[in-house]
Amino acid sequence: MNKWIIGEVEITRVLEFECPLLDPLDLFPNADKETIEYNKHWLQPTLQDPNSGLLILSFHSFLIQTPRHLILVDTCGGNDKKRPQKPRYHMNSWPYLENLEIAKIHPNEIDYVLCTHLHVDHVGWNTRLVNGNWIPTFPNAKYLFSEREWDFWKEEYLSGEFKDDPYAEDSILPIFKFNQALLVDDNYQIDDWVGLETTPGHTPGHLSVNIRSGPDLVVMSGDIMHHPLQCVEPNWNSCFCVDPIKSIETRKKFLATHEKTQALIMPAHFPTPGAGRIIGHGNAYKFNFSEKF
Ligand SMILES: [Zn+2]
Repeated sequence: MNKWIIGEVEITRVLEFECPLLDPLDLFPNADKETIEYNKHWLQPTLQDPNSGLLILSFHSFLIQTPRHLILVDTCGGNDKKRPQKPRYHMNSWPYLENLEIAKIHPNEIDYVLCTHLHVDHVGWNTRLVNGNWIPTFPNAKYLFSEREWDFWKEEYLSGEFKDDPYAEDSILPIFKFNQALLVDDNYQIDDWVGLETTPGHTPGHLSVNIRSGPDLVVMSGDIMHHPLQCVEPNWNSCFCVDPIKSIETRKKFLATHEKTQALIMPAHFPTPGAGRIIGHGNAYKFNFSEKF
């Protein structure tokens, strides 16, 4: 379990799963074989499996412990969820709650759950299946969703054009039913240490999380980037990006900003240790992984 101490704040990475998962040419429709080959020397073996060529991706939550609150950021794919269109999220039984227990956290203790955006792999542990019903996994938490994000997806569901798996029904709507959802604006401040920032593109209401303690800054960047390859190739969107132009604009701005701030960046899918810093490299950037703040 990876843990970072940032002044008064402690951050723990809670893993759901990590494995070689996607062909780079599938994940990044604008990628080309030659560029992947050219970067092989630093991608393999930790970021790309040498045998299959698949990129290694992680699915994890970050647990933030401030002096006031326990905040869980992103809730992965979840267990027992029917996902016929996405087999990797279908009917899983990950030891996620056991991993939370190893971090000495009981679900009852979580004060806030934040989903950086409302894709299937960021809302799963919002709920769990008990006697055939989906109930909130964290009974005492307020679940923070971007109002802009929810408006977008709600419209899509209601329009009848939404053809994806039923993850709103089992992982989002129950949170409203149990009165635990809190729709927030783009720059919501949770407490003195943790605030949100709009970083649209991957989805319309995508949020990043800024954690400050004294002069120190940590940023949880959700899906602005899925893999360190996008630091080297910031123009490569993932096939899951909703607004391609805005995604590139936000990614480039984010990389330029945090090359300067030298904040510790914690993306939603980078493999172990799951955090690092952005450094300039040629015309673009590199991601330097870091186990310590
Ligand atoms: Zn994701």
